[in-house]
Amino acid sequence: MLLFGGTFDPVHPAHLAMAREALALCRADSLILLPAGDPPHREAPGASAEHRLRMLALACAGDPRLRIDPRELRRPGPSYSLLTAREYRDECGEDTPVLLVLGADAAAGLGSWHGARELPGLVHLLVLARPGARFDPLLPERLGWQSAQDVASLLGCAAGRFLQHTGPLMEHSATAVRGALREGGTDEVGLLDPAVLAYIREHGLYRSGSD
Ligand code: ATP
Repeated sequence: MLLFGGTFDPVHPAHLAMAREALALCRADSLILLPAGDPPHREAPGASAEHRLRMLALACAGDPRLRIDPRELRRPGPSYSLLTAREYRDECGEDTPVLLVLGADAAAGLGSWHGARELPGLVHLLVLARPGARFDPLLPERLGWQSAQDVASLLGCAAGRFLQHTGPLMEHSATAVRGALREGGTDEVGLLDPAVLAYIREHGLYRSGSD
């Protein structure tokens, strides 16, 4: 089971590339994207939960392996990964490997996550490199994860292992996309999924003063 959480404000090409990289690495049939409602480690999103969900659905429409689970949007309170990990562990049973996919910048903040020390009992971590992100590779071990050398080691047990993986590095960030949309930049914006861009234009999202 592959889980990939994010704010997706908006979804951009690196998110989709990460999802596909994780699918290929794990030879998995599906990956579940979990848009965050109220992300605990950052300021409020620029677009509402419903808009972010609909943009994500548009971006994933062509790839049936990419599934969306809106549970964090529907759950009141901060979107702690711990709560989602607990729910998935309950639903999957104790033996199914559950992998949480995240970028190196997000992984660098793991120490301050709600219930950081409980997470290794629930999921594995698959950390994908991100340009410019400084990530202390010893951090997961300090928090109770066991370092793994390959994905097979993660898939061989239910939880508790951590793998750092360098796939194709991509510079995209939602912050840059929002900035480009506000300022009329074309580079970042032109790389968005056309249906997502059309949705942004139609609903007037990320205009000046909205971020
Ligand atoms: P923002 O710029 O608003 O912080 P973001 O581009 O980081 O947004 P998120 O939705 O916050 O997008 O990210 C979801 C997950 O995807 C996080 O784990 C983040 O680390 C990862 N991620 C996003 N962009 C990249 C990228 N270019 N390379 C690697 N990981 C990425």
